[in-house]
Amino acid sequence: MLLIKFLVSLFLYFNACYLYSNDNKIENIRFSENLSNKTTRIVLDLTNKLPYTVFTLNNKPRLVVDIEANSSKKIIKKSSKLIKNIRLRKTDSNVMRIVFDLANNSYIEKHFYLEKNNNNLFRLVIDVRESSIKKNNNLKELSIKKKQFVITIDPGHGGIDPGAINLGKKEKNITLQASIELKSMLAKKGYKVFLTRNSDKFISLRKRRVIAKKNKSDLFISLHVDSVKRKSTRGTSIYTLSEKASDKLTARLAERENKVDLIAGVDLEKVDNEVASILLDLTRRDTKNSSSSFAENYIEKARKNGHRLLRRPHRHAGFAVLKSAEIPSVLIELGFLSNSKDVKLLTNSKTRKRLLSTLSDAIEIYVKERNKTIN
Ligand SMILES: [Zn+2]
Repeated sequence: MLLIKFLVSLFLYFNACYLYSNDNKIENIRFSENLSNKTTRIVLDLTNKLPYTVFTLNNKPRLVVDIEANSSKKIIKKSSKLIKNIRLRKTDSNVMRIVFDLANNSYIEKHFYLEKNNNNLFRLVIDVRESSIKKNNNLKELSIKKKQFVITIDPGHGGIDPGAINLGKKEKNITLQASIELKSMLAKKGYKVFLTRNSDKFISLRKRRVIAKKNKSDLFISLHVDSVKRKSTRGTSIYTLSEKASDKLTARLAERENKVDLIAGVDLEKVDNEVASILLDLTRRDTKNSSSSFAENYIEKARKNGHRLLRRPHRHAGFAVLKSAEIPSVLIELGFLSNSKDVKLLTNSKTRKRLLSTLSDAIEIYVKERNKTIN
């Protein structure tokens, strides 16, 4: 009799254990928002105090809870301003993974268990706070400080190719001098600056882009000085890449600037023959947008500072040197060697410095704007 009693109690005990282990259940997931301080409280109603881990992922903002539950009641999926979707699945290691898709990057403020409530359920509480924009910017500022903004300045032409020539002045010498000066101005602002050449030597257009890429540049600026038949034409202009030229003059200018490699006997490369993936296309579009936004920044600053600009100063054409897929790139024609006033402006160290400091300020504005918009 005693033995039977013992066996029965043993059976009950095991049964209880079985019931107990099977009862590791998520009964409900609820949340409430506090919009004023951008916190959301997530509550998991559980049949037991179950071991769990909770963490956030920031590439696509998510909150993940891994909890040792066997099952879950059907969760009514509500959404909130922060929580866009809830996904549940059993992982291979027999853990219930709950993923909350979030509207914004967030961090976990605190998480803890509350004892059983009237419904006989334990509550796992997770308080999540949206990272404020300000906080994000600070983070960006920090990460930018860590990774210096890199600029490659490209002094146009060189060596065998002097570029434009007039009255003994050569484009290649003016661009080199200007580039060296611009480099020191930018270095003083804390940027990392490279030159594609620092002496009078020939470099192919492709090589110039390769150098920019090797330097992991965030911005590429090619400096040139133009020359045209009409001596009265003067002023600065800035060019960005496009397959179709904005006008005939720009198309011809691009032709002149692209001829560099022919002069030195290098074949013009077949561009756009690389990978035609959508991704590259998107990168290009983004790069083009950035290039254009830099160009606009520069023109605005130059106007403000009273610099002489060419009519419609922002133009575009298929400049080979600007064809980097990932690096925002612009080509600046600082002025005209065919115009005596521009020659004076570009060869006088004081006026040249004024022109370059405007460019340097425009770069600073661009970097700041860019940091604001990085995700
Ligand atoms: Zn040139």
